[in-house]
Amino acid sequence: MRYYTLREELSAGSRWTGGYDLGRQWQLPGVECSTCGVAWGGGGYDYPTVDLSGLAGSEDYERPRCVPWPEFSVLRERVLPWVPPGALVGPGAGFGPLTGRARGRFAPVVIHMPWILLLRPEVMSRLEGLTGAVPVPTRFKRARGAELVELEVLPGGRIAGAEAHKPCETCGRTTFVRPPLGKLRVADVPPVDFARPSASLVICSERVIDRLARELSESEVVAVDVGGGPSESATGQPG
Ligand SMILES: [Zn+2]
Repeated sequence: MRYYTLREELSAGSRWTGGYDLGRQWQLPGVECSTCGVAWGGGGYDYPTVDLSGLAGSEDYERPRCVPWPEFSVLRERVLPWVPPGALVGPGAGFGPLTGRARGRFAPVVIHMPWILLLRPEVMSRLEGLTGAVPVPTRFKRARGAELVELEVLPGGRIAGAEAHKPCETCGRTTFVRPPLGKLRVADVPPVDFARPSASLVICSERVIDRLARELSESEVVAVDVGGGPSESATGQPG
C-alpha cells in the first residue's frame, strides 16, 4: 500500500479563509535538558481523546512552561496510564480536544501546521472502515461554520534515515532534520490507513486519498507520495 502526506496549497484569493488560535486544555511542559543543553517541547504528539479531568492534580498540566528534566519526568509518569497504547509522550505533548477561537470559512479537509488533520463532520462518513484515526470534535469558541473534527493519529512507521541519528540519552531529542517533501520516504508503516512516523508528520494510505479525492481537490489540498509498497490497485489478486 502506498502512503501520502497532505499539504494545503491555497490559491491566491482562495475562498477558504478559515483561521484559528489553537490550544488544548492540558499539556506537558517543555523541558530544559542538562544533558544536551537544549530547551524544547511541542510539535505534534498530541492526544485529543485523552481526558485528564479525573487525574488528581490535573491543574499541573494547564499552564504551558518549561521545566528541568527530573520535574518533567515525574509529570510524564503521572499521565502515562491515561494515554492510548502506543502513544509517544514527550515535552509539550497536548491532551484533550482542540480549544481556542475559530473564524472564517473552512474547507472540507483542513491541514494545520501541517501535522493536525481536521475534517468537516459531513466528511467523516467517507472514512468509514479505515483504520488508525480516531475522530474527536473540536471545541472552538464561536464555532459557527467551524464545526471541525480532529483526527487523533498514533505514532507508526518512521522516516527513512532517522535511525542514523542518535537521540539524547536523557530527553530523547534528536538532531535529525526531516528531508524535504519529494525526497522524504517512510518505512515500517504498520498496516493502518493513518499513522504518524514523526511528531510533525502524518501520513495516510492510498485508500484515504481515493475516498477523499473530491474533498481534497475542493479543499486545495495535495497528496504527496512518501513511499510504501506497491499500489493496491496495481497488485490485485490474479483471477
Ligand atoms: Zn537532552
